[in-house]
Order: sequence, then C-alpha cells, then structure tokens
Amino acid sequence: MTDNKETKKSTSQSKKKSAAKAAKRRKKKQQQRIIIIGAVVLIVAVCAVLFNVLAGNKVYDKSNPRSADLTTTTLTEMVENTSKEAEKGPEKTSGKTVYITIDDGPSKYTDQMLKILEKYNAKATFFMINGNMKAYPQQVKNIANSTSTAGFHSVTHDVKQLYKAPDAAKKEFDQCSKTYTDITGKTSKVIRIPFGSKPYTTQASYDNMVAAGYKIWDWNVDTNDWRGNAAQIMNVVKTYGNGHNVIILMHEKPQTLEAFDALVKYYADNGYEFAAVGQNEKPKNFWLQNLSLN
Ligand SMILES: [Zn+2]
Repeated sequence: MTDNKETKKSTSQSKKKSAAKAAKRRKKKQQQRIIIIGAVVLIVAVCAVLFNVLAGNKVYDKSNPRSADLTTTTLTEMVENTSKEAEKGPEKTSGKTVYITIDDGPSKYTDQMLKILEKYNAKATFFMINGNMKAYPQQVKNIANSTSTAGFHSVTHDVKQLYKAPDAAKKEFDQCSKTYTDITGKTSKVIRIPFGSKPYTTQASYDNMVAAGYKIWDWNVDTNDWRGNAAQIMNVVKTYGNGHNVIILMHEKPQTLEAFDALVKYYADNGYEFAAVGQNEKPKNFWLQNLSLN
C-alpha cells in the first residue's frame, strides 16, 4: 500500500511537473510568435516607409519635370507635371531665320556654293539671269534638284531695257520662266528685279509683274560683296547681318565663294534657321515695306 501510495504520490507529482513544463513551453512559443509577428510588422512598416520615400521624393526632379519617371511619380505630381507641360507649350527655338539669296548666276561657282549649303544642312534662293541659265544648264538642274529655290533675275539686267515699256520687265521674266522650264521641266514664280524693286520700277511695271503671278523679293542686308573682299563680306555679316528675319543679298562672285563657308557657318552657329523662298510665300519687298530685320 505504502509503495502504492508512494507511487501514486510520485505520479501525481510528475504529472504536476510535466503540466508546468507544458505551460512553460506554450508561454515560450507564444513569446516567440509575438517576436516573429513583431518582426514582420516592423519589416512591413520599414518597407512601406521606404516605398513612400522612393515614390514621393526620389525621382521627381523639380528642375526638370520632363525627366520625371512616371512609374514612381505620385498622382499629385503627375497632375502637377501635366499642368507644367501645358504651360511650357512647344519646344522653343531661337526664332531667327536667314534667307541667303544669291543673284546673277548660275556660274562656275554655283556647284561649290550648293556643296557648302549641303555641308551645313542649309538652303538658299538663286536668282538667275536668262543667259547664264543657258550657259550653265547643268547648274540650273543642280539648283532645281537641291533644297534651294530657283528664282529669276531678268534677261538684260538693264534698267533702261526693263522699264522701256510697262510690260517689258514682265516679259523678261516670262522669258526666264520658259528657259528654266525648258531645262528642268519645272516652274517658278519667284523673282528679284535687278537693283531692287525701288526706286527704278514704275507702278505700271510692278502691277504687271504682280498680275502675272510673280513674287517679287528684295533684301534687308546688303553684303556689297560685288565690290568687297571675303573679310569685308564677313564684316558686314557680323556688323549688320543680325536680326530675326535676315534676307541677305549676295552674288556669284569669287570673293563671295571665298567667304561663303564662313558665312553659312556663322548663321548655323548663331542658331538661325535657313529658309529658301517658297513659291506660295508672301513676298517681302520695298513696295510692301515688310523687310524689317526684327
Ligand atoms: Zn543682279
């Protein structure tokens, strides 16, 4: 019995002990779970904070809204960027244009001028004399096939002949037109009157040319290249050849060719857009008084 009692006692004691151990284990497990949950919560919190920082501030560069990466830009900032884009409008250019105009050709210098224009991705307008078109038909074709514009510059280049009758000048340009079409199969209505449309051109003569559809172009920068050297030509360009709407007058002369590369480069380097006179463009001349440099 005693033994039994002892045994019973010891059994109940060991039961109590194992129950206490189990409770301890449960408590430990619970503590571990809390620690794990705490750690997970902490990691999630840290990740959330990091994500917010990245999304909210990192990529968005206020100085350059165009560089903002849309995938990490917040909605507010996207709206802000969009409104900034709208305010900015199209990309701004310098707004400066130069029409290089070359009279009295074509000549043995034409091809070299075309080559220099091509080098700078530039274009010009060539006002050609009838007899020179006949003498240099290949150069006429080369102009017609380039990005430059072919225009006419009379037959006689003589004020006395041009204005001997109200329709004399118009007839000279008709003759140029025919020669040009015979050589190239193309047409042009762009003209420059020798010595300009003022003061020699009479009202009747002017009206006849306009009625025939000719577009009369003068200039606002005269290089005086026909009587200067290359350095003097460049001096004129740098002193007077600036403005937002330059129409520069030159001729097919050796000294002009000598200055030509530097001249085209000057306008390219100064942000000018090169323009060739368009067939449907409103002309600029002394009669219309629309030759302002700016
Ligand atoms: Zn001329």
